[in-house]
Amino acid sequence: MATVELKNVRKTFGRNVIAVDRLDLEVNNKEFMVLVGPSGCGKSTILRMIAGLERMDEGEIFIDGKVVNDVPARDRDIAMVFQNYALYPHMTAYQNMAFGLKLRKYPQAEIGKRVREAAEILSISRFLNRKPKALSGGESQRVAVGRAIVRKPKVFLFDEPLSNLDAKLRVQMRTELSKLHARLKATIIYVTHDQLEAMTMGERIAVVRDGLLQQVDQPLQLYRRPINKFVAGFIGSPTMNFIEGAIEGSEDSLVFDEGQLKIEIPPRCHKSLSRYIGDPLIFGLRPEDIHYLDPAKSGQETAEISATVDVVEPMGNETFLHLIAGKSHLVASTTASVLPQLGEKIELTLDLSRAHFFDKETELSLL
Ligand code: ATP
Repeated sequence: MATVELKNVRKTFGRNVIAVDRLDLEVNNKEFMVLVGPSGCGKSTILRMIAGLERMDEGEIFIDGKVVNDVPARDRDIAMVFQNYALYPHMTAYQNMAFGLKLRKYPQAEIGKRVREAAEILSISRFLNRKPKALSGGESQRVAVGRAIVRKPKVFLFDEPLSNLDAKLRVQMRTELSKLHARLKATIIYVTHDQLEAMTMGERIAVVRDGLLQQVDQPLQLYRRPINKFVAGFIGSPTMNFIEGAIEGSEDSLVFDEGQLKIEIPPRCHKSLSRYIGDPLIFGLRPEDIHYLDPAKSGQETAEISATVDVVEPMGNETFLHLIAGKSHLVASTTASVLPQLGEKIELTLDLSRAHFFDKETELSLL
């Protein structure tokens, strides 16, 4: 297996579209790296450049420490699985999986062995004689993955491979691809716009926005310590609450003032925040850190606020409360069995040990 490294990579389309800029990214041997970001942020372009399907304007790509800028796609020893599966319609599942090996003139016996092995791993042995039109979306997806596996490539690239599947199958395939990674011990680079897919599958996640890499880290680190407001808002669902305001007070007594809401800032944050007194800031708190009918644990850094209930969304295991507090709209998630009424005024406890503060202009995290 292999390492993949991108150094200062840039790709433009025409004069105006900078699809990828100043990209530095290292993918470790056997790592499951997920590239995530909104539609159009440059994820597929990054993948296609690694595969050798797209030339870059600047920078270098290394596979196993060797520059591959001028190595054609077929010689990079990389297999790519596409969103639309790209199976040949006139070939059976077996022939689709065998095709790449046949082109490379592998002996018949070796091809048969590898296809059967891959089919076994993916539980598609009984579909091998069927053509794609006789396969469901999930089965076609497995054949496409099987076609990549049989080649035993150095690196697997997945471009939104689950987005054509229904929600239930997506969840199932997510688990299967994670298990497959553990079994193959392969280097995988996986592109998705779905933050849940990224969180559940990635060993590390690279968040991309407008062609620029924002942050690379393990899923829970990204969730707990986002580097900026974009990452904070992109990772997690429902999304983090953001309240605009300013820091007031003096060095030993700071308050975040939203205009109507006032939140006393715990002493832990004073050192980092006191230099921003008077500046416009954004306060961030995830829905699960706004507690309703849930007493604060001793020693917890908390603040109390009142809010009016705007919408109640029961999800089964939890309920999302949409609230109006001061001038702001907030979402809290609660597991309380007694739910408030629409329009009711309720008291909430904010867990400030989980609070984030962002510079309004740069959107960088200040803690
Ligand atoms: P999605 O999740 O929608 O697939 P993405 O993050 O994979 O999006 P890319 O497909 O990499 O994004 O596209 C990045 C940017 O480059 C977009 O603005 C897109 O319109 C542009 N782009 C991509 N391919 C081309 C092309 N061949 N010609 C011109 N512009 C392109």
